Amino acid sequence: MNAADSQRLGSALEHLGYEFTGKVEDADVIVLNTCVVRQSAEDKAYGRLGSIKPLKTKNPGLVVNLMGCLVGIREPERLRSRYPFVDVFSPPSDPGPLISYLTQGEAKSEEARETEERFAEMDGDPSTHPADKMWLTAGIILPEHERGKTVSVHLPVVLGCSHACTFCIIPSRRGAERSRPADEIEAEAISLAAQGVKEVTLLGQIVDRYGKDQPEVGNLSALLRRLDKVEGLERIRFLTSHPNYFSEDLMETVAELPKVMPHIEIPIQAGDDDILRHMRRGYSEADYRRKVADIRERIPGCSIATDIIVGFPGESEEQFMKTYHLLEDLHMDVAHLARYSTRPGTVAERLYQDDVAEEEKMRRFRMLEDLQEKISGEINAGYLGKKVEVLFEEKVKGRWRGRTPTNKLVFVESEESLRGEVRLVMVTWTGPWSMQARL
Ligand code: SF4
Repeated sequence: MNAADSQRLGSALEHLGYEFTGKVEDADVIVLNTCVVRQSAEDKAYGRLGSIKPLKTKNPGLVVNLMGCLVGIREPERLRSRYPFVDVFSPPSDPGPLISYLTQGEAKSEEARETEERFAEMDGDPSTHPADKMWLTAGIILPEHERGKTVSVHLPVVLGCSHACTFCIIPSRRGAERSRPADEIEAEAISLAAQGVKEVTLLGQIVDRYGKDQPEVGNLSALLRRLDKVEGLERIRFLTSHPNYFSEDLMETVAELPKVMPHIEIPIQAGDDDILRHMRRGYSEADYRRKVADIRERIPGCSIATDIIVGFPGESEEQFMKTYHLLEDLHMDVAHLARYSTRPGTVAERLYQDDVAEEEKMRRFRMLEDLQEKISGEINAGYLGKKVEVLFEEKVKGRWRGRTPTNKLVFVESEESLRGEVRLVMVTWTGPWSMQARL
């Protein structure tokens, strides 16, 4: 979601006449887009912020914008007093404060004035801030340095989350769930395809709830059907799904539509029912197993990824082992693992003591990591000698990198330019995290 926000903000800045620079020392504007989903991500954000301070001291005209979940939906005074060198604070997915600062603050440039006037002429409605129009318009144009090079783009369809899992900080930082209008999403997909994009990944904290907050926009299946018709687009993915909302209709839609890839990201978080209840996930371990079985039956060949948190407050060895056995039984393609860390303002912070020792969390994390490495290795070994279609994205260290429909990473050596091409390859080597192949 942050990557998508950054890309859109980059394109909004270009509308104001700014251009991308790869060197932070050359920048007139620095935007630090932050994540606080875990303590380690938050620490990283503070570290980066600290490294920006000397640049501001050296160049007082530099505009520093702190954006994202560290700021949250309300601008906290605490951050302002702790980081006085930050000029602008912006909540997640909201370019408004920076755009206003650049267009109305001291940094207002001639180009910015012209852009503002252009927007004002486009429609005479003074109630709409030019930044909003820029955001919507900018959202469908890639930043210049990415145009013609970007094969795959994240497209937010549901913003925020209203679920309130007890461990999660996201609802308090990204606000309540808001589904975007289907027309707007379709228009963006058409525009992205016209700019050479071949794959869109629809994003939502609970993407399969698309439309549940606003039934008039339709549901995810209907949205996928619309996007499947977009000319030039080769592949469509979506994440992250929630087991309670992944309907049979959605499974059938994925199975039926040729552009929708058979790869589902659907977190379990824990394999013990008491822990799941304390997390307020809204399903049991048995419900999850049934859902995975249904997905596998209705979407043949589908790969499935899950998320797991180890060391949730009160998690005993026995409860952890239920998660371990669940992962062992379900044989998932990917498991995104995390060690629990208390997030400020969450229900878990109020109700539970973070009582699993760090070393113990690490031990459990490593056990799952080792197990998943073995499982992923076995699943991927099944691809050896097989032919599979790969969409190639970029050349990395002399090899072309792409993904199979099931989202497996594939490397191919070729002198041909494969960027944006879907090609049939033969898999010649497999490991747990990637494969090698030849055209
Ligand atoms: S569903 Fe739960 S874990 Fe996911 S963003 Fe919403 S509150 Fe957080």
